[in-house]
Amino acid sequence: MIEVLRSPSEMKNFRKTLKGSVGFVPTMGALHAGHESLMKRAAQECDNVILSIFVNPTQFNDPKDLEKYPKTWEADLEMAKRNGVKAIFFPRYEDMYPDNYKYKVIENDFSKILDGVDRPGHFDGVLTVVMKLFQIVSPDKAYFGEKDFQQLTLIKGMVEAYFLDLKIIPVPTMREQDGLAMSSRNVRLTAEQRALAPWIYKALTQSKTAQEAASLLSEKGFNVDYVTDLQGRRFAAARLGEVRLIDNVQI
Ligand code: AMP
Repeated sequence: MIEVLRSPSEMKNFRKTLKGSVGFVPTMGALHAGHESLMKRAAQECDNVILSIFVNPTQFNDPKDLEKYPKTWEADLEMAKRNGVKAIFFPRYEDMYPDNYKYKVIENDFSKILDGVDRPGHFDGVLTVVMKLFQIVSPDKAYFGEKDFQQLTLIKGMVEAYFLDLKIIPVPTMREQDGLAMSSRNVRLTAEQRALAPWIYKALTQSKTAQEAASLLSEKGFNVDYVTDLQGRRFAAARLGEVRLIDNVQI
């Protein structure tokens, strides 16, 4: 039996009934094998796994992106069941933002570069919703993908800054056979764009410099937001039509 809980008070009450450790996997739904690897890891390490599905409006700077974000509830539910998830927290906007987003968690350094440049306010929305989710779910461990490495780093920093009693576990990026990092947004690519998309990973791994990778992607027809080498990793964001793709690799 899997529980589906919609309000924070229901979720908190359910949490109190659980015995043993709790692993938490926060998502925006439209689940794929990348999300599944987070659930599997959580199931290996924890007595209970809680998944959340919430397409968080405050982290979308582009209203069209929010409107077009894929929703696949039935398939998500099946994936959660298959992986032994105990409960899905599936709140509505009003549940999560009784304050109407008057209170925010803002980081003023690392959130202002890379994706923070092209998506103003994005990480304020991410950190705020993750803080709320942590307060509601009270997990012992929370699982985040390296696919969103900047997000993962900022969340680790928030946990330290606010003395939160949980451990953040990074999970490696799951890729398609052709190297494309799995993402809920990949289904929005046309067949032609989908054929080009693996060039992001190829450019990141095969180019000598970030500049060379950026030029290669532009040649292939991407609109490149950035390719940047930082702290031993190479980060990229590039758009194909309306779809913005991000990726990063260790260098
Ligand atoms: P999202 O639903 O896109 O907000 O992602 C929810 C969680 O899944 C985040 O921690 C992501 O970093 C992680 N995730 C998304 N795509 C992948 C992937 N391809 N491999 C590993 N983790 C991923």
